[in-house]
Amino acid sequence: MKNTVSISQENYLKVIFKLQNEHGIASNQSIAEKLEATPAAVTGMLRKLASLEWVEHTAYQGAVLTAKGQRIAISTIRKHRLWEVFLVDKLKFKWDAVHQWAEELEHIGDADFTERLDAFLGCPATDPHGDPIPDANGDWTGNERVIGADKLSREQIFTVRGVSNSASDFLQHLDALNIHLGKRFEVLDHFPFDGSWEWSDENGESLRISREVAGQLLVELSKKEK
Ligand SMILES: [Zn+2]
Repeated sequence: MKNTVSISQENYLKVIFKLQNEHGIASNQSIAEKLEATPAAVTGMLRKLASLEWVEHTAYQGAVLTAKGQRIAISTIRKHRLWEVFLVDKLKFKWDAVHQWAEELEHIGDADFTERLDAFLGCPATDPHGDPIPDANGDWTGNERVIGADKLSREQIFTVRGVSNSASDFLQHLDALNIHLGKRFEVLDHFPFDGSWEWSDENGESLRISREVAGQLLVELSKKEK
């Protein structure tokens, strides 16, 4: 018999997946912060998830996903990112307005439903924020050539590929700077005093980029063209 997963369980598994990728283990406290839950609620849910064999939970330390738990987390992330593509490509939402809707939509439908959505969208490889979309088997090929824009050096030419922060205010700020995925720039200068940068776009327009913005943009270097 197949267990059905509740919305709140899926949210826990997704958060544990992300924390585990960053820190090796998802501590109770960091789960509580991410989900704005009380410590008691987190402990209760982790016990429940452990009884379903979706996580392994060590008291006072935290949780890691089992293979089963990981499968559910990845399929939730896959649905989230596919819905973001749908909302931007088909419903013409802007990229800063889709995350909240996708948080709800990611919980609906079964595997067949998701595969139809994927096919309808033309099996996209990335979401509107440049994040890779895992395939139906749970595999995803990240773009290993991507680096943080704060790691660039002068005269390098690069293309913006993603954001490490998809909060609306950051994305709106990028819109105001006219920075979007796929756009190419060249590094003109870097100012160690405040960590800011000067870039120029393909029309030769130069712009000043703060340390905060550069630190949250993912870029791919281009080969220099003569
Ligand atoms: Zn999102």
